[in-house]
Amino acid sequence: MSDTGTAKKTQSKSGDSNSEDSHSGDSDSPRPQNSLHNPAMLKPTGYFQEEPLSFEYPATGNCGVALREAEVPEVEPAGALPGVALRSDGLEALPQLSEFDAIRHFTRLSKTNVSIDAAMYPLGSCTMKYNPRINEAVARLPGLAGAHPLLPDELAQGTLEILHRLTEALKEITGFAAGTLQPAAGAQGELTGVLLIRSALEAKGERRRFILVPDSAHGTNPASAHLAGFEVRELKSLPDGTLDIADLDRRMDAGVAGLMLTNPNTLGIFERDITKIAAIVHGRGGYIYCDGANMNAQVGVSRPADWGMDVMHLNLHKTFSTPHGGGGPGAGPCMCTAELAPYLPVPRVVAENGRYRLDWDAPESIGKVSTFHGNSGVLVRALSYILALGGEGLREMSDVAVLNANYLRHRLKDLLHVATDAPTLHEVVFSDQGLSEHGGITTLDVAKRLMDYGFHPPTVYFPLTVHGAMMVEPTESEPRAELDRFVAAIEAILAEGDNDPELVKTAPHLAPRRRLDETRAARRPILRWTPGMPLEES
Ligand SMILES: *Cc1c(COP(=O)(O)O)cnc(C)c1O
Repeated sequence: MSDTGTAKKTQSKSGDSNSEDSHSGDSDSPRPQNSLHNPAMLKPTGYFQEEPLSFEYPATGNCGVALREAEVPEVEPAGALPGVALRSDGLEALPQLSEFDAIRHFTRLSKTNVSIDAAMYPLGSCTMKYNPRINEAVARLPGLAGAHPLLPDELAQGTLEILHRLTEALKEITGFAAGTLQPAAGAQGELTGVLLIRSALEAKGERRRFILVPDSAHGTNPASAHLAGFEVRELKSLPDGTLDIADLDRRMDAGVAGLMLTNPNTLGIFERDITKIAAIVHGRGGYIYCDGANMNAQVGVSRPADWGMDVMHLNLHKTFSTPHGGGGPGAGPCMCTAELAPYLPVPRVVAENGRYRLDWDAPESIGKVSTFHGNSGVLVRALSYILALGGEGLREMSDVAVLNANYLRHRLKDLLHVATDAPTLHEVVFSDQGLSEHGGITTLDVAKRLMDYGFHPPTVYFPLTVHGAMMVEPTESEPRAELDRFVAAIEAILAEGDNDPELVKTAPHLAPRRRLDETRAARRPILRWTPGMPLEES
């Protein structure tokens, strides 16, 4: 997804990247070299070997296709490239791999990828859960996958019906009167929602410049408010991450367009005073944007529209089972009240007498926010998931997600410091209080060492309001045995801290790369390979 540029993502990356200092964003520093570059460098590394770029394999003259000599005379094909457009030099820098080389290259690369399909991936706030394969099969049905987005409505009835039914399902789940499926990510859903608020205020002739955002919010919240033309004012949260209502009461004045609120918040705590909060904001003419990325905690249990929210986004790629991570497609539908509905993007899918059509006639609409219908493959997966589980199944999904987080909290509470006493919903946040008593290890060291035990690290150092935070979201899809394995890994790492802290401080040891210079990697990444880039022995 658009998992970039936010405080959280920068921080959580520290847990999931594992490159060596020597290769970290300085284009002058050499890339490590190994036996795949040069057989004389063979060392016992198991599978944990850095895979070269396909360009870095020695030039062999090999080619991936073996076409037979043509049996008919060659003729100049009509429209063939003119000679000047045909490249004659620089070709030797292209990869020279046989078909088998190429298969091995990509298979080895796939094995260096940590994934939910291999082990628990407790990246808090991101809801990394199992994505049932049936959704993939449905999204790949040729009639859906092959449908051109510009087909006339009469020829796209199936797709339009899916979009319509999904919108109806999301209305029922959230309690809102209307919604759009267009936004391609949560962050874009936020932008859409804040633009709806802006349009509603403009329609009333009101000029309100500010949006309130709590300090525990995901970085995309202030970014979206800013992109929509507002200035952000930060609200302090209480130690458990919930909103300081007295602070809200002081700051919510006639210059404030509204509040962006995550509920349950980033500590996995439900805002108990949510209706009071809504009354304060609405009483002074503002709107409330609800960040719905944490909907996995409450599907079938509570509905944001019922608490008085005005608009929210959902992350289909979190709650509704689309695979995510690594920048794949997502969807961030934006749901809203009847009051804000006139401003929703166009086109909208309308059902009439069992037929579906796209309606562009919405003069107050903010316009399009994405091409065509958004990421329709993701939308198909989400409806497939919702229909497969049904109302009861969706509720059970949330109940078990909460149960799993509480199980981990209970099992880990004597080992790590739980950041708050408030009841945990779908994720549990630990602070680093007391951690350094284990040989001086830090949150980052634990995250790195977890990789050696085969787990993707949790989100670390977010939310910023918790010192040395470690945010664990197991999701409903983890069986108890896997949760117990995670607890065993934490126990083992703390014991290692007591007995051999260097082992933890220099982890990971069983990964192709070690630790990254994260500042340089973020500021000066190498984004492009160039011929002759220096290689280093590793
Ligand atoms: C993931 C997330 C977002 C942003 O969603 P994207 O799809 O990554 O753009 C916003 N808020 C919270 C709390 C999130 O966890």
